[in-house]
Amino acid sequence: MQIPVLVLNANFEPINVCNTRRAIGLMLSGKATMVLNGRGEIKTVSQSFPSPSIIRLEKMVRRPRPRVKLTKREILRRDDYTCQYCGVRTMYLTIDHIVPRRLGGHHDWDNLVAACPSCNHRKGGRTVEQAQMRLKRPPAEPPTSADYIFARHLRDNEEWVPFIQGW
Ligand SMILES: [Zn+2]
Repeated sequence: MQIPVLVLNANFEPINVCNTRRAIGLMLSGKATMVLNGRGEIKTVSQSFPSPSIIRLEKMVRRPRPRVKLTKREILRRDDYTCQYCGVRTMYLTIDHIVPRRLGGHHDWDNLVAACPSCNHRKGGRTVEQAQMRLKRPPAEPPTSADYIFARHLRDNEEWVPFIQGW
């Protein structure tokens, strides 16, 4: 019941991922219909339901454009697991404040980058200029395309791809 289910808005825009339990609840209460099954049946004592992979809300939900959460994991994903100073690609990365916090640097997308431990150590509490280092590219908030937001689900849910692309 914890399998991810893609939720489409009434206009087919992908807006969310929920679990099977929640998806079936939405379907039973008439708030959503199944778009794609592909996962067989769920049996209870008295009934069986098709297990949805994608559902679509009956009524259009208005909501702000989603934003990518500012977390270490998302910063590393934006930076493609690559140190933004020396370019090494590794799973052992730290987060560097480009302008150090004690110099007034903000905890924000454009002041945080992935850095390998040795570059982070070398830079220390200095600015990029003071440390005579160079960034690979200026960091920014990642795009909010559905492709980007739902990317981590797509490997396990290939059937979602046509419903995600282009949004
Ligand atoms: Zn490095």
